[in-house]
Amino acid sequence: MVTNPMQALSNKRLFTPGPVMMSPDILKIGVQQTPYFRNKEFSDLLLMCETNLLSLVSAPKNSRVVFLTASGTAAMEASIVNLFTCDTPVAVINGGSFGQRFVDICQRHRIPVDNIQVDRDDLRDGLVLDSLSTGLSGLLINAHETSIGHLYDIAKSGAYCQSKKILHVVDAISTFVTDEINMLSQYIDVLILSSHKGLALPPGLAMIVLSPSAIERINRHNEFLYFDFFYYLENGVRGQTPFTPAISIFLQLYARLSELERSGIEHSINKANSLANYFRSKIERLNFETYSTSMPNAMTAVRVPNNIDASLIVSRLESDFDCVVAPNGGSLKNLLFRVSHMGHMSLGDIDVLVQGLEYIVKDICK
Ligand SMILES: *Cc1c(COP(=O)(O)O)cnc(C)c1O
Repeated sequence: MVTNPMQALSNKRLFTPGPVMMSPDILKIGVQQTPYFRNKEFSDLLLMCETNLLSLVSAPKNSRVVFLTASGTAAMEASIVNLFTCDTPVAVINGGSFGQRFVDICQRHRIPVDNIQVDRDDLRDGLVLDSLSTGLSGLLINAHETSIGHLYDIAKSGAYCQSKKILHVVDAISTFVTDEINMLSQYIDVLILSSHKGLALPPGLAMIVLSPSAIERINRHNEFLYFDFFYYLENGVRGQTPFTPAISIFLQLYARLSELERSGIEHSINKANSLANYFRSKIERLNFETYSTSMPNAMTAVRVPNNIDASLIVSRLESDFDCVVAPNGGSLKNLLFRVSHMGHMSLGDIDVLVQGLEYIVKDICK
C-alpha cells in the first residue's frame, strides 16, 4: 500500500534548525485567503514590519530593510552581489557548511575571498582575526554556525570591521530572536535574517537589514533584476516590493514582530536559554556531550558516545517517537546530531525527546 506523503510528514515534533514549530496564533493566520497587496493596507503592514524589525535589532538610524521572497541562502547571495565586486577581496569566517556557503557564493561570482577556515579547536580561545589580509572590503560571518552549533563573538568581529572601516556582514538567520543581535553594539552593517528559524514562520521570506553605510556601498550597476537592492529600497519607501511577495508570510511576520515588540526580545532570548539549559542538563545524564565550546541558545549539537551511531539515533527518534532532529553530514555524520530550541516549544516537548533518547540508548546498548 502506498502511504499518503502528507500524512507521513505531519504530526511530528520538530527539533530541526528550520523549519521550526509555529504557535497556534501564527498557524491561524496561515489558513486565511491570501489577500491582494497593491494597496494601502498592505503598504501600511509592510512599513510597520520594517519599523518593528529595525527596532528589534537595534538598527542604526536611517537603516532600511530589503524583504526578499526567497530562502535564506538567496539573501546571502543577494547581499554579496549587491555589495561586493571582483575588484576587492572579502574575508569569510568559515567554521562549517554555512561559512562554506558564503565562500561558494563569492567564488561563483568571482569575488576574491580570504577563506578563514576555523575548526572547533581553533575556536576554543575565541575568534582570532590577526591573520586577515589587508585591503578587504568586508568580513562575512554566520553569527551562529548552524552546522556545528557554534556562536561566534560577533561584537569582536564587528569591532575589527569598525577599526578597518570594512563592511561587517552577519548572517543571523539562526541567531535572531533566540540570541542577542544588536546592530549598534555589534557594529553590524548588513544583517541577514529569514522567516523559518527563530522567527518561527513558514520558510519563504528573507530579510536583509542595511545600515546607512551599507546602503551607500550598494553597487550602482548590478546585473541582477530580482536581486537588485535599489529596486527593493525604492519600492519599500511606499511599503511595497517590486515583485509579488510571500503575502501570507508577511501577515504572519506582522503578528510575530508585534508580539515580540510587546513582550520584548529579552523574553524570547530567556525562553530559548531555559529550553537549551534544560535539554543540556538532561543529556549530560545520558553521557552525551555538547560539541561546541560556545553554544547559542538556538541549538545544541550533541556528541554521542563512541559505541553509538548518531545517524541511527536520528532515524529512530523519528520512526519510533515522531521526534525530528537534524543529522550532521560528512565526517560528523556518525558523531553528532543537532537539536534546535527555536520555535513554539515547551519543556514537555523536550521531555518527550529525552525519553525517546533514553529508550533508544538502552536498546542499542543492551
Ligand atoms: C538555515 C540557515 C541559512 C539558510 O538556509 P536556507 O536553506 O537557504 O533557508 C543560512 N545560514 C544559516 C546560519 C542557517 O542556519
